[in-house]
Amino acid sequence: MKICVICKREAHGFGFIPPPLRASYLANRKMMRYFCGVNCQKIFSKIYKEKNMIDLTKNEKDAIESALKPLGEYVAEIGMDRPLSAYSREEVLCLIEVAVTAYFDFMQGKASEAELLEVTC
Ligand SMILES: [Zn+2]
Repeated sequence: MKICVICKREAHGFGFIPPPLRASYLANRKMMRYFCGVNCQKIFSKIYKEKNMIDLTKNEKDAIESALKPLGEYVAEIGMDRPLSAYSREEVLCLIEVAVTAYFDFMQGKASEAELLEVTC
């Protein structure tokens, strides 16, 4: 018998496993949490998200924002009217690459700015 991790009643088929783990792998079952119902599952999910959120720095937020323009250009190039679910695997991978490249280009630019400031004496 499984016990709800929130209210300690008997669990009834509702569960949670921390991403990116998959419940289909037996080794991950120890990480599984069970709930009596959807309300306790929602409570747990809210707490989990709050505990696992990272506070982005200003530079990280700016780096994320710097990806908007190249992402917009890429989406316009392959068709603005298409939902993400209609993208091919290659298009999704390219979308991710555009975002990650823009993010790291921005962060690397900030890092080299900081290095230049340190050397100027
Ligand atoms: Zn419960």
